[in-house]
Amino acid sequence: MTKEFTCIVCPVSCSLKVEAENNEILVTGNQCKRGMIFGQNEFTHPMRMLTTTVKIDGKNLHRLPVISTKEIPKDKLKDLVKELYKLTVKGPIKRGDVIVKNISNTGADIIATRTIQ
Ligand code: SF4
Repeated sequence: MTKEFTCIVCPVSCSLKVEAENNEILVTGNQCKRGMIFGQNEFTHPMRMLTTTVKIDGKNLHRLPVISTKEIPKDKLKDLVKELYKLTVKGPIKRGDVIVKNISNTGADIIATRTIQ
């Protein structure tokens, strides 16, 4: 099986071709080792940082931007974003405050990326 990806590790955006052969994952089209690792991971278990917003109970701002503290399996992102959209937080919140600890047992926390008074 062969799959094609665009490497998203840096702005060069190399076109990767990844194939499984004899229990090995072969990556071509990469210009560096980071692209090889990205291609192998994307082929076997794609991961992404989760970035979204949650509702904030405030007068001036209605959404608080948040991010995960580590990458999460890509196939879980949609459900987790839906879960976070149901959440309402109250200020004050400092940048880096944990909004959800260990979301859905992924081992990742969801933290604020902005300070709200
Ligand atoms: S393979 Fe290397 S150079 Fe190419 S996009 Fe990925 S990180 Fe950048």
